[in-house]
Amino acid sequence: MRAMVMDEIAGPLDVREVPDPTPPVGGVVVEVHATGLCGSDWHAWAGHEELTLPHVPGHELAGVISAVDSGVQRWSVGDRVTVPFVCGCGACNWCRNGNAQVCPNQQQPGFTHDGSFAEHVALHAADTNLVAIPEAVSFEAAAALGCRFATAYRALTVRAAVRAGEWVTVVGAGGVGLSAVMIAKALGAQVIAVDRSPEALQAAKDLGADHVILADGRDVPAAVGEITGEGSHVSVDAVGSEQTCAAAVLSLRRRGRHVQIGLLPTETGLSQVPMARAIAWELDLLGSHGMAAADYPGMLRLISSGALRPQDLIERVVGLGEAAALLPAMQRSATPGMTMINPRIA
Ligand SMILES: [Zn+2]
Ligand SMILES: [Zn+2]
Repeated sequence: MRAMVMDEIAGPLDVREVPDPTPPVGGVVVEVHATGLCGSDWHAWAGHEELTLPHVPGHELAGVISAVDSGVQRWSVGDRVTVPFVCGCGACNWCRNGNAQVCPNQQQPGFTHDGSFAEHVALHAADTNLVAIPEAVSFEAAAALGCRFATAYRALTVRAAVRAGEWVTVVGAGGVGLSAVMIAKALGAQVIAVDRSPEALQAAKDLGADHVILADGRDVPAAVGEITGEGSHVSVDAVGSEQTCAAAVLSLRRRGRHVQIGLLPTETGLSQVPMARAIAWELDLLGSHGMAAADYPGMLRLISSGALRPQDLIERVVGLGEAAALLPAMQRSATPGMTMINPRIA
């Protein structure tokens, strides 16, 4: 099969023929019809994750099952499926209670093993992790869910428990930030989007953001305070830096809830967060890490009904070759919306 292969950290990506994967015990192989290019792919390419080289990236995917291990109960060849980027082991207490997103023995395609920037990908613990794609949902829309959209959905619905009428401030209007804007609006919130790119803010407006703030060095918490009066009920850092995390936390009103979605990789594993404010104002600081397959049905109902439209976040569809050129440049030339890869086109 054709695949995008990473031979060295931060080196050029090569598209070439590699052996087809076989299903792991309890797993399947999926023929990939759509797979999203994500900031996490850039982090892995840049060396922020432990990888075994050579490596095939790609963790946001949808496709058709092409091979099944004999231990799999619920799935057959030909089924249209997607999968959360965190695949639980299926056997531990966390997986059995529907929280595979924090499984201590988790597998992540594109990180712990070869991923979906290829014609086929192997997936583990299929009975725990696979999600059937409803007929009304396209492969592209389903692939858009696996990481950024589902993470934003869980962050706002389960972690921050956003209620209609509340103010939600989203710092960062890339794929996950724009997902958060769309979902917060669908929940009836009033949304403020913050980004340093005017194009990204225009995309946020197009998705329903009530206010936008250009982060051009201005005092973001003060700007949020001017709009909301007392600050935001909920804040989201969809970027993942100490600066954006602080801007989001300090934009909260007293007793507000912050959700950290953007990854904060540091040398020491420690990050500066405004804890003095968290104590004095009784802020809730929450982490969010994907979403288990068990939580997908509610989200998929909203997508099938048209209340949520992840397909609107997709700006372009490219082949593996074009994607191999785009990936290393992602951090420098942030383009609004999502880039979707179809590995079956040249
Ligand atoms: Zn588990
Ligand atoms: Zn992702």
